[in-house]
Amino acid sequence: MENYKVLIIGGGTAGITVAAQLLRKQSNLKLGIIEPSDKHYYQPAWTLVGAGTYDLKATERDEKNLIPKGASWIKDFVVSIDPDSKVVTTKQGSHLQYEILVVAAGIQYNWSVTPGLAEGIGTHGITSNYDKKYAEYTWELLQNFAGGTALFTQPHTPIKCGGAPQKIMYLAEHHFRKRGIRDQANVIFATPGSVIFAVTPFKEALEGIVKERNIHTFFFHKLVEVRPEQQEAIYEVTNGEHMPDLSNADSIKLGIRIEGGNHVVIPFKFMHTAPPQSAPDFIKESALSITDDPYGWVDVDKHSFQHKKYPEVFSLGDVAGTPNAKTGAAVRKQAPILVENVLAWLSRHKIGDSQYDGYSSCPIVTGYGKMMLAEFDYENKAAPTLPVDTSRPRWDMWILKKYILPWFYWNRMLKGKG
Ligand SMILES: Cc1cc2nc3c(=O)[nH]c(=O)nc-3n(C[C@H](O)[C@H](O)[C@H](O)COP(=O)(O)OP(=O)(O)OC[C@H]3O[C@@H](n4cnc5c(N)ncnc54)[C@H](O)[C@@H]3O)c2cc1C
Repeated sequence: MENYKVLIIGGGTAGITVAAQLLRKQSNLKLGIIEPSDKHYYQPAWTLVGAGTYDLKATERDEKNLIPKGASWIKDFVVSIDPDSKVVTTKQGSHLQYEILVVAAGIQYNWSVTPGLAEGIGTHGITSNYDKKYAEYTWELLQNFAGGTALFTQPHTPIKCGGAPQKIMYLAEHHFRKRGIRDQANVIFATPGSVIFAVTPFKEALEGIVKERNIHTFFFHKLVEVRPEQQEAIYEVTNGEHMPDLSNADSIKLGIRIEGGNHVVIPFKFMHTAPPQSAPDFIKESALSITDDPYGWVDVDKHSFQHKKYPEVFSLGDVAGTPNAKTGAAVRKQAPILVENVLAWLSRHKIGDSQYDGYSSCPIVTGYGKMMLAEFDYENKAAPTLPVDTSRPRWDMWILKKYILPWFYWNRMLKGKG
């Protein structure tokens, strides 16, 4: 059985960043990365692909060129983990022994959780930038949009980059204005949440933008079904005070109806959504996930990333059970702390002193050439790192999003340099 000092599950944002940082600090470490894919993608740019301002091909790199020098790439899927005997089993039947395991397997899309969504996605005006297959379809739909309701919706589960379902909405609304068809478009944002964004002062800024641009917001609206052929989205309203008033002019214009009790039907011509998400099944089914957690995240300490029951297991990124906003920006702050702890555990069975405070950031694109950068921590407290006020839409933040961050990602972060 092959034996690794450090074995990493997942060669995505977190897995590659951690591997590169570990090998920079200890080049002779026997380190393996289990990753089945030939390609890795810079997912944050898919929002821009959906808005026709970034080339999908430019978000793609060959995995083989990202695996850091000194690491072994095990091109396979993990199917099970036995943390008692410290063995990982792969689809091709390999058993791999580890001293330290880093779980960086990302998030799983569960399209079929919402009836009609798996069948409808990619057809009948239903799209999602969350899958590269559909990001270009989003742009095709926006270009062909001829009026009616453009519906943007947030799923009821935690998702990666929770801001992405509304970023594309601001871009679409701007696009409709540029095409001179804004008057024919009803733009709706429907979310199971109670606010447009949880962090002050970005919440207030976005409330202002939504009002100024006449975007209809529906809170406490949980998407429970999609009817692709009819182009209808069905929502369960989870707070009675937020049932739409069918007699008001907006409801009439939008063609909204109530279908038994608290179910509201919103007809659309265009719909962007994100799939319901969870930890991958093989993690959910393993002893590593949080007991009784419906999403199956890995049960790690939120400051150190060390597993609560198995001290030689660490996890970060989207799959980790840390209550931060799941983003690549969070991974950038998590990785050095996890690396310090892994090395400390290997050398002296102790973890290091640094503590993760939940930092994450969400680049909220509010139109072509405009962006706010929301940076915040576990307490949803603003945690700015830049010397400018990023709580209002700015052109320089757009430049950051479109040019600087992708460059930084490929040339610094994934190389373990920042
Ligand atoms: C539309 C969109 C917009 C976004 N916008 C932003 C943004 O603006 N800013 C930002 O910071 N973040 C953004 N993100 C989120 C960001 O991309 C993720 O949070 C980040 O990639 C998480 O890294 P990860 O390593 O946890 O997961 P990933 O990078 O997804 O990597 C997980 C890896 O695990 C592998 N894996 C899965 N199952 C197995 C298995 N069984 N065996 C072995 N390997 C496995 C996968 O193949 C994958 O390579 C966005 C994401 C999307 C989709």
